Amino acid sequence: MLDGKHYINGEWLSSGDGVIEVKNPATGELFGTVPNGGKDEATRAVEAAAAAFPEWSRKTVYERSALLMKWHDLLLEQKEEIGRILTMEMGKPLSEAIGEVEYSASFVHWFAEEAKRMYGRTIPASKEGKRIQVNKQPVGVVASITPWNFPAAMIARKIAPALATGCTFVAKPAKLTPLTAVKMVELAEQAGFPKGVINLVTGSASAIGEVFTTHPDIRKLTFTGSTEIGKELMKQSSERMLNLSLELGGHAPIIVLEDADLDLAVAGTMASKFRNAGQTCVCGNRIYVQESILDEFTEKLAQAAGKLKVGNGLDEGVEIGPLVDQGGYEKVDQHVRDAVDKGAKIVVGGEGKAENGSYFYNPTVLSGASSDMLVMNEETFGPVAPVMPFKTDEEAVKLANDTRFGLAAYFFTESMSRGTYLAENLEYGIVGWNDGAPSTAQAPFGGMKESGIGREGGQEGLEAFLETKYISIQV
Ligand code: NAP
Repeated sequence: MLDGKHYINGEWLSSGDGVIEVKNPATGELFGTVPNGGKDEATRAVEAAAAAFPEWSRKTVYERSALLMKWHDLLLEQKEEIGRILTMEMGKPLSEAIGEVEYSASFVHWFAEEAKRMYGRTIPASKEGKRIQVNKQPVGVVASITPWNFPAAMIARKIAPALATGCTFVAKPAKLTPLTAVKMVELAEQAGFPKGVINLVTGSASAIGEVFTTHPDIRKLTFTGSTEIGKELMKQSSERMLNLSLELGGHAPIIVLEDADLDLAVAGTMASKFRNAGQTCVCGNRIYVQESILDEFTEKLAQAAGKLKVGNGLDEGVEIGPLVDQGGYEKVDQHVRDAVDKGAKIVVGGEGKAENGSYFYNPTVLSGASSDMLVMNEETFGPVAPVMPFKTDEEAVKLANDTRFGLAAYFFTESMSRGTYLAENLEYGIVGWNDGAPSTAQAPFGGMKESGIGREGGQEGLEAFLETKYISIQV
C-alpha cells in the first residue's frame, strides 16, 4: 500500500475530506490512497507557487537547468520503481510503463537544454534614435491538470518547460493515477528544487479546477484530457483571459495505400493502435485500406493482433493490460456491439472479461466497418481496430478529415507524390508517414480543431510558457 500526500510549499500534507482510494485495474485490489483535497489545498499550493516565483524566475537558466538535469538522472535511476507504481495504478505492461518514464525523462532533459536558447531579438527601427527589443519572460504561476493514461509523461511534458523558463508549478494528477506523480515529485524534492517551485494537490477535480481557473495568481492553465472537460475549463477561465494550453481528445485515422510496404503498415498500425491497450489520444481509431489490398492487410493485422498476450501488466511477456475502469470497458464493448449490429464482422477478439474490479478486453479487428458506426465516429479508447475500404486518395482524405477532431493521423505509402498529397491535406496537428509512433520530446505535439489549442514538446512547447515583451527605447 502506498499513501500519497499533497506536496505544498515543500511539505508533505494529508489534509482534505478523507482519502481517494487507488485500485489496481488488473486485480481490483486496493493499491494506495491519496488525500481528497479541495479548494483549501489548491489555494495554499497556488499561494506557495506565487511566493516562490520571484526568486525562481530570477535564477539563471543554467541554475534551473542543472536542477532539472538532477531530476532527470533520478527519474532514470528509479525508472523500474516508478514503472511498477505506474503499472499497478494504471495497468499498462511494465515494459511500456518503464518506457513512459524514459520518455518523461527525455522531456526534462530536452527542455533543460533548450531553455538556454530562449532568445529575444533586436529589430531595426524605422526612426533614428529608436531601439526595438523583444524579450522573453516566464508567464508566472502555472497550474496543470492531467489524465490517467500517461500518468508520468503528461506531467513531465508540462512541468519541464514551465520550470526551465522560470515559471512555478501546481499539479493536479488524475484521481485514478495520482501515485506516479507523487513519486516523481518526491524525486524532484530530492533533486533540490526550492520550496514552492513545485506543488502537487490531489482530490476533487471540480474544486481544484475552480481555484486553478479563478485564482488571481494563476497565469496559465495547461490541461490534458477530454475535449468535454477542456471546453468546460475554457469557459471557466474566460473571465480572467487565462493563458491556456489544451491537449484534448483524438480520433486518429490510419490510411493504407495500395503501394504501401504491407509489413511496415501492419507493424505501424499495431504500434499506433494497441499501445497502452488502445488508450492513447493519438492511437489509430479507424483504419482505411485501399480496396485492392483490403483482404491481405486485414488478415495480417488480425494475425498480429491475435498473438498479443493479454494479462496483468506485471507478468512477463504481457502486451495488453486491463482497461482502466468499468466505464472504459463498457464504452469499448458498446462500440464493438454497435459495429456488429450495423454489419461489421469480428475477425479476431470481440469480447472481454470484466470481473472483480478488473476489465480486460481482447485485441479486436473488425472488417466491413462503415461510416455510420460509433467506432468510426468517436474515440474508442480501447484495443479495437475497425477496417473500412476506400477507392481513391481524395476519398481517403475526405473520410479522414470528416471529424471534429484533429490530433494525429497516419498513412502508409511508398509514393513520394501520393504521400505529399496526404501529408498536406490531412487536417491534423501530427502526421505519421510510414510511422506509427511519431511522439518525441523535440517535436511539437498537439491538435487542430476540437483536439485542442497549443503544442507541447519542441520549441513550441517552451514558447507556451513564455510571454513576449516588446521594449521600445528612444536613445
Ligand atoms: P478527463 O475526464 O477529461 O480527465 C482529465 C483530467 O481532468 C483529470 O485530472 C480529471 O480529474 C480532470 N477533471 C475532470 N473533471 C474536471 C473538472 N470539472 N474540472 C477540472 N478538472 C477536471 O479525461 P480522461 O478520461 O482522464 O483522459 C482521457 C482523455 O484525455 C481522452 O480524451 C484522451 O484523448 C485525452 N488525452 C489527450 C492527450 C493529448 O495530448 N492531446 C494526451 C492524453 C490523453 P479526475 O481524474 O480527478 O476526475
